[in-house]
Amino acid sequence: MTVSPSLASAAKSSRVLVIGATGFIGKFVAEASLDSGLPTYVLLRPGPSRPSKSDTIKSLKDKGAIILHGVISDKPLMEKLLREHEIEIVISAVGGATILDQITLVDAISAVGTIKRFLPSEFGHDVDRTDPVEPGLTMYLEKRKVRRWIEKCGVPYTYICCNSIASWPYHDNKHPSEVVPPLDQFQIYGDGTVKAYFVDGPDIGKFTMMTVDDIRSLNKNVHFRPPSNLYDINGLASLWEKKIGRTLPRVTITENDLLTAAAENRIPESIVASFTHDIFIKGCQTNFPIEGPNDIDVATLYPEESFRTLDECFNDFLVKLGGKLHTDKIATMNTAAAVEVEPRAITATCA
Ligand code: NDP
Repeated sequence: MTVSPSLASAAKSSRVLVIGATGFIGKFVAEASLDSGLPTYVLLRPGPSRPSKSDTIKSLKDKGAIILHGVISDKPLMEKLLREHEIEIVISAVGGATILDQITLVDAISAVGTIKRFLPSEFGHDVDRTDPVEPGLTMYLEKRKVRRWIEKCGVPYTYICCNSIASWPYHDNKHPSEVVPPLDQFQIYGDGTVKAYFVDGPDIGKFTMMTVDDIRSLNKNVHFRPPSNLYDINGLASLWEKKIGRTLPRVTITENDLLTAAAENRIPESIVASFTHDIFIKGCQTNFPIEGPNDIDVATLYPEESFRTLDECFNDFLVKLGGKLHTDKIATMNTAAAVEVEPRAITATCA
């Protein structure tokens, strides 16, 4: 039997610290880390709790997560925690508002000197390759700054470029997979023919964890491009129509509409609008080949592992809808009303 480098290294039981595990993306990563059997530490920052945050903490603890307390902008504390717990892998999934706090974290990692891999909060596009309009650009400039600091400090890294999360890509929702696809009408961006990659949240976690101790992903951009999940928005609409068993009206959201929404500078909605423009008008996920010396497609690293298809992910949304799908009321209901979503603090942005 051939043991993949990722599995072979997992046996070494590297200690993992996940920062942002109570967040949208961090939860998938922390769960995958625990599933992989690695000793998993989770950094919680002090502050107001919300029911879903408490539930996440409880479920991570139940699965064996070791809870640490602190914020990444506290360098002495971070150094102490990294040393005391002999952390070897640090994964950050902090939200859009605190991207630059990672500079201090990199300083702490660099001072400790024994961290084998750092994954900064990326989990979207290759930020060196794409220039969304503002206000999304500011976030990319910050992510680029963190990249350059990591490289300058000589910290071993992997940049996860996982593209979009599997969901309907609402242009004003930073966590679109928390909401079911439309039930009233589709908003089609431009002519609806520009393709993007959609990756299930747990797969973002699973494949991220496969890279953390794999020598082949050291100091590399790892791109998630599952061919089965490459869709344009017309195709996404048709897929959802098949699932719900009826067709819905399609309304065009033009390039100008997206640019106007971005220019309104409402945070985070305008940031999402600028990324939506980048993805579905400019084609930022597909307009470059993965062939640079620092680029790897995750599928070539782990050809034996499959991604959940978008078709399967859309089945999950049907399950979320449950019996509601067959009531007359649902046809006139907007999607957010159909599945209640807990309000969250406005801090982060997608991609
Ligand atoms: P969230 O805002 O949902 O979560 C952020 C997490 O980081 C929370 O757990 C928060 O703690 C924690 N945190 C924030 N600041 C600090 C700090 N200074 N010290 C310690 N912990 C901190 O973020 P997202 O999951 O939305 O975003 C994470 C990354 O994923 C970003 O880079 C974003 O761009 C990307 N993303 C990608 C998407 C995609 O479709 N590809 C979609 C969404 C995000 P607390 O619970 O206390 O707030």
